[in-house]
Amino acid sequence: MDDSSSPDCLFCKIVKGIIPSNFIYEDDTVVAFPDISPVAPVHFLIIPKQHFVSIMDVPVELIGLVHQATRDIVHQEGLATRGFRLVNNCGSDGGQVVQHVHWHLLAGRKLTWPPG
Ligand code: 5GP
Ligand code: ZN
Repeated sequence: MDDSSSPDCLFCKIVKGIIPSNFIYEDDTVVAFPDISPVAPVHFLIIPKQHFVSIMDVPVELIGLVHQATRDIVHQEGLATRGFRLVNNCGSDGGQVVQHVHWHLLAGRKLTWPPG
């Protein structure tokens, strides 16, 4: 981890292994791990290793790498056929609680729309 990590950030601590998690995917720039409070039978969090607060801060080039990682995870987890939902909560009205950008990958049941 380079010095772009944020010392008090929960997800930076997960990336560094200070807080234990079970990575289901890892490459040079992205990791994914199960959400601690799943809202669907499949609920992973996909994050860049580097600390950015929100989708508004992430370099566009990195978005592409996250997207490619997401596709790989979808195939790895066998979700391509039945589908999934990818969610990014941004800011207070968006419901973002953890201030390290992340995408929720939800699957395993028919998900309702619209969300609350
Ligand atoms: P947000 O509301 O910011 O979009 O989502 C934050 C997510 O992080 C929530 O779904 C919450 O359950 C998850 N979360 C919070 N703390 C932890 C933790 O320590 N470990 C893991 N794996 N997930 C966490
Ligand atoms: Zn962070």
